[in-house]
Amino acid sequence: MCGIVGCIGSMAIKDTLLECLRKLEYRGYDSAGLATHDGNNLVVAKEVGRIDMLQQALAGLPRQACLGIAHTRWATHGSPTRANAHPHVSFDGSVAIVHNGIIENYRELRSELSAQGIPFLSETDSEVIAHFAALYWDGDLVSTMAKVASRLKGSYAIAMVHSLCPHSFVVTRKDSPLVAGLGTDG
Ligand code: GLU
Repeated sequence: MCGIVGCIGSMAIKDTLLECLRKLEYRGYDSAGLATHDGNNLVVAKEVGRIDMLQQALAGLPRQACLGIAHTRWATHGSPTRANAHPHVSFDGSVAIVHNGIIENYRELRSELSAQGIPFLSETDSEVIAHFAALYWDGDLVSTMAKVASRLKGSYAIAMVHSLCPHSFVVTRKDSPLVAGLGTDG
């Protein structure tokens, strides 16, 4: 069991994501990470171990962020290492994703991507999602995610950010719970 979370709004994004990750801690996890968009670039941080370790890793990063996604991982494919922790980033650096669940056909998807020369940095089933999102990118988060989801078998809740989209992110799910909330500040 693990969890994903994303937020967008006028709140302090990194603080809010860390608070949300702490609320997911009870589900169990081996590593944690987050990706934010600072208006220009994606900023990714991840660590093995406690959320406190991630908080320390974030200390040196700029506070400003427009939106972000985050993850607590309970490894199913690949050992609990920093490389296997989420978010996973696409080969061109344009996309970051977090994934809860299992991609059952990841081996064939990974072979397909490897045949195109795309390098893998992790042992996870999840990394294929980021690479396909970059390959299928059509300028629209929702339709790109739909194209990626059409390739996936298994259960998932996924959140995705794109470097060209500083004001929105996208989520999708299949056989995993996902809740959307609207507050006064985000
Ligand atoms: N299957 C993914 C992995 O091993 C996600 C695991 C999870 O749901 O935390 O990285």
